[in-house]
Amino acid sequence: MKIRLENLTKKFPNRNKKHGEYVIAVNDFDFEIPSGKLIGLLGPSGCGKSTTLNLISGLETPTEGKIFFGEDDVTHLPPENRGVGLVFQNYALYPHLTVQQNIMFPLQNLRGKDKLSKDEMKRRALEAAKLVQIDTLMERKPSELSGGQQQRVAIARALVKMPRVLLLDEPLSNLDARLRLQTREEIRRIQKATGITTIFVTHDQDEAMSISDQIVVMKDGVVHQIGKPQEVYDHPTNLFVATFLGTPSINVFRARVQGEKLYIGEENVLATPGIQDRDVICAIRPEGFLLDQEGPFTLGLDRVEIMGRDTSVVCTHEAAVSEVLRAIVRTDSLVDEEKNTVRFSLLPRKVHLFDPETEEDLPFEV
Ligand code: ADP
Ligand code: MG
Repeated sequence: MKIRLENLTKKFPNRNKKHGEYVIAVNDFDFEIPSGKLIGLLGPSGCGKSTTLNLISGLETPTEGKIFFGEDDVTHLPPENRGVGLVFQNYALYPHLTVQQNIMFPLQNLRGKDKLSKDEMKRRALEAAKLVQIDTLMERKPSELSGGQQQRVAIARALVKMPRVLLLDEPLSNLDARLRLQTREEIRRIQKATGITTIFVTHDQDEAMSISDQIVVMKDGVVHQIGKPQEVYDHPTNLFVATFLGTPSINVFRARVQGEKLYIGEENVLATPGIQDRDVICAIRPEGFLLDQEGPFTLGLDRVEIMGRDTSVVCTHEAAVSEVLRAIVRTDSLVDEEKNTVRFSLLPRKVHLFDPETEEDLPFEV
């Protein structure tokens, strides 16, 4: 089922009045979440991700705007009537109940025509447990499970009512690195298997990029860009999006364009057809640097870090805005560490220009 947000806004009274009367946690969201997809809501801490989820689930009411599930206006529908499954960072399982009882819990509150027999509840709990592969642990208590298993129980509990929408708020934050990777793939698999429209909130761009059909990049309550992860990575609409996505981060320089050529410092590093003479912010992906002894772009060589599959050349430059500059090259490429400098040519499609005032993208012909 698709979800539509229409001019959705949430203001909170500001705790610190010095910074104004309101915090606008969600500012005029206006977009559609397609049916059956997994959407990653991505942005730094405090940007309004949880508030957005809470509006969709009904735990918060909007200050302005509307929420539609399919064609139904659910803006004023109580949470329990929206058909949403929720999973939070802290799994919040009942410690004295078994896995089976935890998963069945939401079904026990069903009344009237929705009321289920005990056997039917058990059957559904088992089905949900199978989906997250914990069906052999049904008799255990939460304290007898690992963090990853506990989170699976929480996901099973969210799925057991067969929700129309699954909302996950930083569900992997309490897990260690390996489990995080494993569980995010699991979530992807479950989402594909059930086809439930899912919104996955995270501040971790890697996480969002790896499992989402679409990402929504936000900052300070404002949506900055929506698109397929690769599209957003390849074509960031502004400097914030460019710097927020990608590890290692994109490398940012003060630069200028003259005669449709890009200058960083004194060097003409790239042709940028279609851009007028002006100052620009130039951002270059780490993989956009090609080691090239004849290359036009000279950087100070700080050190070389070998990290398994590839090599990170850590550089310096007087026009750098980023604290650290990193070029990623293949492990078998040779960097002469005796030298103070290293030269590169640039891959044009890995280079982005931005207006220094508005920080909006300035497209050039690649
Ligand atoms: P995120 O989940 O992206 O970290 P939140 O949605 O939790 O961000 O918060 C967005 C903004 O709204 C923050 O500035 C936060 O302090 C503020 N905020 C969230 N909930 C409340 C509340 N109940 N009262 C006042 N301010 C709130
Ligand atoms: Mg949050």
